[in-house]
Amino acid sequence: QAHLDAITALNPRLNAYVTVTAEQALAQAKASDARRAAGVAGPLEGVPLAIKDLFCTAGVRTTAGSRILDNFIPPYESTVSGNLLRDGAVFLGKVNLDEFAMGSSNTTSAFGPVENPWSRANDPDTRLVPGGSSGGSAAAVAARLALGATATDTGGSIRQPAAFCGIAGIKPTYGRCSRFGIVAFASSLDQAGPVARTVEDCAILLRSMAGFDPKDSTSADVPVPDFAAACARGVKGLRIGVPKEYRLEGTPPEIEALWEQGLAWLREQGAETVEISLPHTKYALPTYYIVAPAEASSNLARYDGVRFGRREKGADLKDLYERTRAAGFGAEVRRRIMIGTYVLSAGYYDAYYLKAQKIRALIKRDFDQAFANVDAIVTPATPSAAFGMDEKQDDPVTMYLNDVFTVTANLAGLPGLSVPSGLDAQGLPLGLQVIGRAFDEETVFAVGNAIE
Ligand code: GLN
Repeated sequence: QAHLDAITALNPRLNAYVTVTAEQALAQAKASDARRAAGVAGPLEGVPLAIKDLFCTAGVRTTAGSRILDNFIPPYESTVSGNLLRDGAVFLGKVNLDEFAMGSSNTTSAFGPVENPWSRANDPDTRLVPGGSSGGSAAAVAARLALGATATDTGGSIRQPAAFCGIAGIKPTYGRCSRFGIVAFASSLDQAGPVARTVEDCAILLRSMAGFDPKDSTSADVPVPDFAAACARGVKGLRIGVPKEYRLEGTPPEIEALWEQGLAWLREQGAETVEISLPHTKYALPTYYIVAPAEASSNLARYDGVRFGRREKGADLKDLYERTRAAGFGAEVRRRIMIGTYVLSAGYYDAYYLKAQKIRALIKRDFDQAFANVDAIVTPATPSAAFGMDEKQDDPVTMYLNDVFTVTANLAGLPGLSVPSGLDAQGLPLGLQVIGRAFDEETVFAVGNAIE
């Protein structure tokens, strides 16, 4: 009830929640109390969470931030949200996101932008973005409108909003969480993960969310360790890689300083820091912005106005498709569909898509070689603190550059954790990123906990 009251008070300003399921939440809480009284409490018993509106929730509208799904009520539950319910969690509602998770500022949502709760701290007129695409998840947690939230990360959508809102968030290894029931953006890159106030809270939530699922053919059949226990392991004797290609010109000195500070903290706690090279880093953004739209254009072909979602009237079937998609998709989604269709077309496939796939393999190989020598890699999470709501909006490429530190982990399938680590001169939060070996989230949590 306290969380529902906070939502009533603050959501009109923040716009973090698209749907609040107050009645259902109170009923779930009651059932949770009963389980506690009966001595059968699950590991998340009674914990109030927000669910990114990209996860299908049985009987509760799931919009993906798009007009094309604004009437879609799924008849089934995503595996990840189902796992959380199984462990006793209470769902407060569905939270806002960039349309189909395409964006870095939560300004492409058909349900309006989300405001970063750190906005107006110094200047009452400055409205800052919460980051994206999981801007609703991060804003809800930062403003105490939920104890934690589910999120997804295709190219940084968990880690960048976590950094902008001063909270923690992890994109686990590709395959760690089931994608079943999550609206698909780019299937070879999409991963679900938690955002929460602390690294340890993320560890607790991830343990419940993760696990093999026969309904997702890319879900990995590997044991789920006790991630929270791993947080307390310490970093003594670990080798931490510092990739020289991530020292970009134009990075604000405060972010450089935070990075140095994080590395110093790790050395003080017994880790060794070593410079490493990830030589193909400079190709990561162009590679991502070919692969992701290519897969998106294919995944989004299903929204035809016939099977589910919005339907516009048409003179014939083709007219119905065209009118539905024209009315249903926003500008950024259309841009991605056009780019994706172009790079997959017969004449350009080899030049763009095939080449991007080859470079993706080289980026992955860079990490394999680095991890022969180090246990984890530490970088900044973002190249800047949260920016203003009207900044970068007229130039998509400037917006895409915001993902420079995060897309590599998706292309290589590796776990990446964003850790709230400091503030800039304006008092806005900054994050550091810890990247680990595939399925070694435990080391990632240990390092993250040491620099939190
Ligand atoms: N900002 C990136 C994009 O727009 C990443 C989004 C995401 O991770 N879902 O594609």
